[in-house]
Amino acid sequence: MITPHQRVGPNSDGKESMTGSGKAIPSVNRLRVFEFILARNASRDLENYCPLAISYNFRMKNTFDIIVIGAGGMGSATAFELSRRGHSVLALEQYQLGHLFGSSHGHTRIIRKAYYEHPDYVPLLHRAYERWHDLEQRTGRHLLTSCGCLSLGTLQSELVRGVMASASQHRLNVDYLDSAALKTTYPQFTMPGNFVGLLEHGAGFLYVEDCVQAHLDAAIELGASIHAEEPVLNWSANRDTVEVTTVQGTYSAAKLIITAGPWLPELLREFGYPFTVMRQIMWWINPIGAAAFRRDRFPIFISETPEGYFYGLPMLDQRGVKVARHYGAEELGGPNEVDGNVGEQDEAPLRDFLGKYLPGVNGDVSDAQTCIYTLTPDRHFVMDAHPEHANVFIAGGFSGHGFKFASVIGEIMADFAEKGGTDLPVGMFNIGRLLGNPPADEAVE
Ligand SMILES: Cc1cc2nc3c(=O)[nH]c(=O)nc-3n(C[C@H](O)[C@H](O)[C@H](O)COP(=O)(O)OP(=O)(O)OC[C@H]3O[C@@H](n4cnc5c(N)ncnc54)[C@H](O)[C@@H]3O)c2cc1C
Repeated sequence: MITPHQRVGPNSDGKESMTGSGKAIPSVNRLRVFEFILARNASRDLENYCPLAISYNFRMKNTFDIIVIGAGGMGSATAFELSRRGHSVLALEQYQLGHLFGSSHGHTRIIRKAYYEHPDYVPLLHRAYERWHDLEQRTGRHLLTSCGCLSLGTLQSELVRGVMASASQHRLNVDYLDSAALKTTYPQFTMPGNFVGLLEHGAGFLYVEDCVQAHLDAAIELGASIHAEEPVLNWSANRDTVEVTTVQGTYSAAKLIITAGPWLPELLREFGYPFTVMRQIMWWINPIGAAAFRRDRFPIFISETPEGYFYGLPMLDQRGVKVARHYGAEELGGPNEVDGNVGEQDEAPLRDFLGKYLPGVNGDVSDAQTCIYTLTPDRHFVMDAHPEHANVFIAGGFSGHGFKFASVIGEIMADFAEKGGTDLPVGMFNIGRLLGNPPADEAVE
C-alpha cells in the first residue's frame, strides 16, 4: 500500500535527481504529496501486484492535447487557461509545487500599471488585473492587495521618465511629488535633493505562492493533470505531435508549451539565444519604528539611485519591510551556477542603500531568500513559437518583472497553442530579436 508520504519513482530514496541536462538538482522535501501523485502511485502499485490490471486500463493517461513544461508562475497560469478552454493538459514540474529554487516564491510580487519599462506593456497589465480578480473570484482566495507605488529618481532617470511616459500615454492616475513634497509626504526616505517622486495609485502586490497555487488548484479542478517531482529529460516534435520524456515515462500531445523559467537557457542553448540568469536576494528587515512602515503610511517603492535600482514593500507581517536590489549582480549561465545561500557579503549593498536613503529600515534582518531572474539582453520578455517547431511555444526571459503578467500570459500562451498567435499585443516579445532578426514590423524600439 502506498501512503501519502511515500513515492514510487527514481526520487523515492530522497537523494539527488537529474535534470534533462544531466545536472544535479537538490533533493526535495516530500512532505507535501498531492492527490494526483497518490492516484498515479496507486495505479503503479496496482500494476506491481496485479499485472492484469494494466489490461483493464489502470495505466495513467499519457496522451494530451497540450503539455506544459514547468508549473511555476507562467506554467500554472497556462495550465489553468488551457483547461478553462476545455483542452486536456499535462503540466510537468521537476520539483515539488511551490518550491524555492526558481523565480516564483518570496511572499509578494509588485503589480503596477505605469510601466517604466515600456508603455506597450500597459494594455497587457489592464488585462492582467482583470484576470487576477477573476482568479480570486473563482478560487475564493485573496491574491491582490492595492497599495500605492512610489517611484523615486531624478527627472532624467530612466525610472521617472518611463513612468511619466506610460502614465501620460495611457492616462494613468499618477501624482507628481517634487523634492519638497516628497520630503513632507514620505519623511521615511532621505533621497538626494534632486530626487522627485511619482505615486501610482492603482498599484499593489500579489501573494506570489498563493497565485501559483490558485492557478494550479483551478486547473486541477478543471481536469488538468499536474505532475510534480517529474523532471522532463527531453522532448521532440514533428509536424503533428510532440513527445516528452520524463523520469517517469513518455507522453505525447499535439502541442508543447515551455515555461521553464531559469532553466530555459539550458533548454534552448543549442540555438545560441543570449539568455542569462541572475541571483537576487530578497531581505525582510525589522524597521526602527514599525508604525511608520505599515501600508497606511508607507507605499511600495522603486528607486533608481546612483547605487542602482532598489525596491521594497511595506510591513505586511512580523518579518518587517521587504527590500531588494533589482539587477546589479553577475549574469550567469544557468541555475546550477546560482548559490542558494545568503552570506554576510551579500548584505553590503543593502546596508549602503538603507543607510543613505531609508535609515528607519536599517534594522535587523529577520529573513532572506535567494531567487533567480532569467534575463534577455533588452530585459523584455519572450513569448513566441519555437524557432524550428510551429507546434512548440516558449514563454520566458521575464527579466525580473514578469510575475504580475502571469494571469494574462496564461491567456497568451493558450492563444498561441490554439491558433499559433494572439490578438493581445505581444509583437515586441518575439524571439527572433534576440538573434538580431525581429519581424520587420515588430522591432523593439
Ligand atoms: C527576487 C525576485 C523579485 C521579483 N519581483 C517581481 C515583482 O515584484 N513583480 C513582478 O511582476 N515580477 C517579479 N519578479 C519576476 C517574476 O517573479 C518572474 O518573472 C516569474 O516568477 C517567472 O515565472 P516562470 O514561470 O518563468 O519561472 P518559475 O516560476 O521559476 O517556473 C519555471 C518552472 O519550470 C520548472 N522546470 C524547469 N525545467 C524543468 C524540467 N526540465 N522539467 C520539469 N520542470 C521544469 C521549474 O522547476 C520551475 O518550477 C521577481 C523575481 C525575483 C527572482
